Amino acid sequence: MAKLSVEDLNPKGQRVLVRVDFNVPLDAEGKVTDDTRIKAALPTLKYLLERGARVIVCSHLGRPKGKREPSMSLRPVVRVFSELLRRPVAFAEDCIGEGVQKMVAAMKDGDCLVLENLRFYAQEEANDGEFAKKLASLADVYVNDAFGTAHRAHASTEGVTRYVKQAAAGFLMQKELKFLGDELANPPHPFVAILGGAKVSDKILVIQSLLEKADALMIGGAMAYTFLKGQGVDVGSSLVEADRVEITRQLMKDAAAKGKKILLPVDHVIAKRVETDKLDKKGRKMVEFQDVKNTAGTAVEAGFCGVDIGPGTVKAFSDAIGGSKTVLWNGPMGIFENKQFAKGTFEVARAVAQSGARSIIGGGDSVKAIHASGLADKITFLSTGGGASLEFLEGKTLPGVAALTNK
Ligand code: AMP
Repeated sequence: MAKLSVEDLNPKGQRVLVRVDFNVPLDAEGKVTDDTRIKAALPTLKYLLERGARVIVCSHLGRPKGKREPSMSLRPVVRVFSELLRRPVAFAEDCIGEGVQKMVAAMKDGDCLVLENLRFYAQEEANDGEFAKKLASLADVYVNDAFGTAHRAHASTEGVTRYVKQAAAGFLMQKELKFLGDELANPPHPFVAILGGAKVSDKILVIQSLLEKADALMIGGAMAYTFLKGQGVDVGSSLVEADRVEITRQLMKDAAAKGKKILLPVDHVIAKRVETDKLDKKGRKMVEFQDVKNTAGTAVEAGFCGVDIGPGTVKAFSDAIGGSKTVLWNGPMGIFENKQFAKGTFEVARAVAQSGARSIIGGGDSVKAIHASGLADKITFLSTGGGASLEFLEGKTLPGVAALTNK
């Protein structure tokens, strides 16, 4: 790697500020419901602690928008982290200021301290220089292991690197860059990619970039309906981004010109979407799906919307996945939060897991689906980054990576 690694540091006795992604889901009682991200940061943190570093951990949690929001405190995360680490961990109720400085000054080699949510300060996301300087003043060296926020130039991911002696990549960061970057730059072929989710607009640049590298692209989820509409297929009331229809046509042409395949759904699970009088927690009218059925072909009849890929599509996608040597998957094939419409996503998960190909899965929903299907151990790499992995796959330089010290 061109950037300094945590292994290049000499951490004994040093104060090391480690930016991690402890942005974990909490339930109404403030209990951590999924510790994947905490576990993912352990190798770097253990490595430093075992070598006698004084480890100061910082992260964001949720979107407190620059205000102290007790429901978004990192305190409950510290308990889980400490249990997983099997060491006592101290917690500072702020991330900058005198109180924190005193706690850091009292640290001994091998001690670990977690700072309060960085986003309690608006200066964090604004990449404010003074705030970054204050964070940096707590440490001698800095390690970034938060791949999930590396696509943002924030004070704790970019600004801080200007005020420390060395800024290195943690193990998780390195793994993400290796699998999403180096490995996909020169993958064993055939290389196929499966994209799903809600919006084409989020994924146009990824599709363009993948058309250079992959042999075939499969498109499912709501995104597929904008593509199908562009191909003149009736899509009923399915979600369509009208202003993106033209670009999907162009993408299909580009793919054909390059001799690449874009596979679109050939059948669907469809339903009538009905607004009820019941309100959800946010006061929005709840939606019900009625008259669920499979289509016989590619078209969706009037009044119905596509909610999942159908069995013919599952077969076509699974065949393509089964014949590949490298698979990349990002985004669900349908409204998989609703069990009735989760089959396509789970079948794709199974096909990826059983393919024997090198498999890389990114995006929270797809990773969730693979865990729920119990097949996660069959996957070569599960990315922890949603937006970051997409931007990286687009070929963009991530500011949090660019800012690290060159080797
Ligand atoms: P994204 O954040 O773009 O990856 O989109 C994920 C969301 O897409 C999930 O919440 C799915 O429910 C939604 N989604 C997938 N397929 C469909 C569909 N056919 N119609 C509406 N929403 C969908």
